[in-house]
Amino acid sequence: MGNHHGYAAIDLEGWRFFLRWPDGLIRETGLELEAAGSGKPRLRSNWSPQFQIGRIMAAMLMLPDPRREYAQTYDALPIARVKGYVLARVGFGPGTEFAGVTDQVTIDPSYITLVNLADEVSIGVTQRWQRLQAVYAAANTLPDSVSSLVRQHRDFLATGEPVTASLTNVVSQLVRLLDPNGQGDPLPWLERAVGIAESAEPTLPSPDQIGEEDRDLAIRAATQYRLTRARGASAARFSRATRDAYGHRCLFCGGKFGGIPQIRSGVDAAHILAWNTYDLDVVPNGLCLCKLHHWAFDAALVLPVYRDGELYLAFTELATELDDHSCGLLGIDGAPLDRAYLPETKALWPSKRYLDHLYADLAISFTP
Ligand SMILES: [Zn+2]
Repeated sequence: MGNHHGYAAIDLEGWRFFLRWPDGLIRETGLELEAAGSGKPRLRSNWSPQFQIGRIMAAMLMLPDPRREYAQTYDALPIARVKGYVLARVGFGPGTEFAGVTDQVTIDPSYITLVNLADEVSIGVTQRWQRLQAVYAAANTLPDSVSSLVRQHRDFLATGEPVTASLTNVVSQLVRLLDPNGQGDPLPWLERAVGIAESAEPTLPSPDQIGEEDRDLAIRAATQYRLTRARGASAARFSRATRDAYGHRCLFCGGKFGGIPQIRSGVDAAHILAWNTYDLDVVPNGLCLCKLHHWAFDAALVLPVYRDGELYLAFTELATELDDHSCGLLGIDGAPLDRAYLPETKALWPSKRYLDHLYADLAISFTP
């Protein structure tokens, strides 16, 4: 835990933690923040028997019970198919509330990160909850033994009761029933069984739900949302309009890689934002970029910035990890962007408001 809403973790010693689920229910967790001897505060269960945050979240999200004896299982993937894994992190979303009067924290969980020795994976809480709800709704089409456990899981969560080992037992029975080795993630199996096609929707929360505490994850999420956004009829219109407005030139390098008969366009329309409630499929939310610069933009290495109404190419701190030659191929940090590479109409230029959102959501800092 780092700093949240102006509270340092140390200020929260002895506060009681509640958990708000995406369905709106708030439940007790029995968790308190304890200053460990090593100085790093940890959430501890004050119930007997203890029931820690990782086990609570795993049981609620229908994941196998996290266990620490993962040292022997090195190479088995995917992550929830190993003998042991830990739930290493619970991301606190922006809806998390700190009530100083009553010394209560209501956690709005944004994502969890699962770790074993070989890999780590982050899962959006709302995203997985939506998948679970689709399975709940189709539970009656499952074989009786499976259906009964899925309904027990659903009904338990609907009560808003504190999560205990009884919910873990439901999940464990389900896991054993679906996978004789008892190690797998039951959700993909259930989705196939009820005929839910594999979803192309993002599995991560949007970057504004992740915030500053995990920038790498925010950048991965931004790419996921941009890819999702790139599908569909509205996105196809956006792509054509944006590339036309820029004359099929890359905004960053001026390369004209399109508009040639019989050659597939080599420029893409990239979304600046792909995850909020603005009208996203409009040219001012787009950048026309060549393949290299599209990749570098998605990876948050290079971005356009406004200074005094003019646009410049800016390298982020991440770009300092590239070697000089590779950096040089991306352009020159701080170079003005040629007006000839921008749409003729200024109203179609990249929106400053969208760009400011992007910097904030990805916690972008620029090299001095
Ligand atoms: Zn380019």
